[in-house]
Amino acid sequence: MEVCDELRSFEATGVYRLNGTCTSAGATYLDPVRLLNASYQRFRIVPSAYYSRSFGPQHQEGEPEIERPEKRRKRKRNQKPKPRELNPMERIAEARHQEAKPLLLNAHESLVKAKHLLEYISKTIKGNEHTLDAGSGSENNFVELGTSWRAPFYEITICFRNPHVLGNEEGFFHAQKTSFPLFNSLISVEGTDEAEGEFRNRRYILPRGSCFLMADFKRVRDLIPCSPNQGYNLIVVDPPWENGCVRQKEVYPTLPNKNFLYLPVQQLAHPTGALLVLWITNREKLRAFVEKKLLPSWGVEDSTVFYWLKVKPDGSLIGDLDLFHHRPYECLLLGYINVNANAKKGSNFKLLERSQVIMSVPGAHSRKPPLEKLLSEYIPGPKPSRCIELFARELFPRWTSWGNEPLHFQDTMYFSEK
Ligand code: SAM
Repeated sequence: MEVCDELRSFEATGVYRLNGTCTSAGATYLDPVRLLNASYQRFRIVPSAYYSRSFGPQHQEGEPEIERPEKRRKRKRNQKPKPRELNPMERIAEARHQEAKPLLLNAHESLVKAKHLLEYISKTIKGNEHTLDAGSGSENNFVELGTSWRAPFYEITICFRNPHVLGNEEGFFHAQKTSFPLFNSLISVEGTDEAEGEFRNRRYILPRGSCFLMADFKRVRDLIPCSPNQGYNLIVVDPPWENGCVRQKEVYPTLPNKNFLYLPVQQLAHPTGALLVLWITNREKLRAFVEKKLLPSWGVEDSTVFYWLKVKPDGSLIGDLDLFHHRPYECLLLGYINVNANAKKGSNFKLLERSQVIMSVPGAHSRKPPLEKLLSEYIPGPKPSRCIELFARELFPRWTSWGNEPLHFQDTMYFSEK
């Protein structure tokens, strides 16, 4: 493919496949804003709202923290810190890192070599500076509101737009407003156009064909479909793992690992099979729990690891690759549920075989890039695939999003009208 064709295709899809020199890894650059914008007809995501950390003064996750002068002075007096010996768990983590490093370096090198892509990325991100319009009042804190005694009484009013069926007037829409209990009820956005929700003086953009359940973990079984044929072919899980960084920043509440054993992943999977994607942190204790207990208890087989390598708009890594507690990458484990040997043989989908590296400029803290387009060829079952995200903070067309704040990134402050 010519350079221009590649860029044109990237502009249309938000996915750029890079050809590394190492044959064991695929490397892909993703543009989350472009991918998300494909979900909307009347709105678009504001790049500076998505890439808020690339515009703001705060340091990026994974970047070494800038040392304060008092700390530096104290350090001088006490001379160099002695390198601490790694404990057995840390040694395993370090060995995993060393194993992943050639794949990561190779993927990054192929990005650095794609000069035309880098120029394009930095132009589209940096050229789109825009002051966020936070609207009137502060954002709704759904996590707090959902635990208040008032939660059962809160309603969201949704304005659905559908093309007018009477007459031939093109572009004429019929709007209909309906109110729904906001918490603990499954809400579907039917129709051909995105809908707008209103709740406590804030507006939310709801993609067509999306569905959400804003509820606590205790109500997660409400997601189990009444008929197995309404199960899901792609299940993405991004748990609120207990983690010092989240606790320190108080970004969202976390849950103990044992709780995730109770997620009804098997009952959510479609009988023709599901691809499961689980985001994990780099802590070895967690990795061991996931591989030895969690994935087997969910019935996940043939797992493969992918890496999400975080880069700045100029293509450089957001931090030193070897920094032990602040790796500039996160891992996602992928595997299959209900896909037996026969199904694999005659499958209408590609089987995951090897590790891959996904690169993108990160958005807000813990916000993950959208994966459906990248993974579509690996999803089993009928098409279009039915997809679900557990612990979601945003909505997508044809997806069900569950968590205690799935409308978080749907606030109009993240959008502008097309
Ligand atoms: N995937 C999301 C994204 O890309 O923006 C990030 C998910 S974040 C890692 C975990 C989410 O789980 C947070 O929104 C958090 O509020 C939510 N959560 C924490 N405790 C929960 C609970 N008890 N029930 C439901 N959701 C919970």
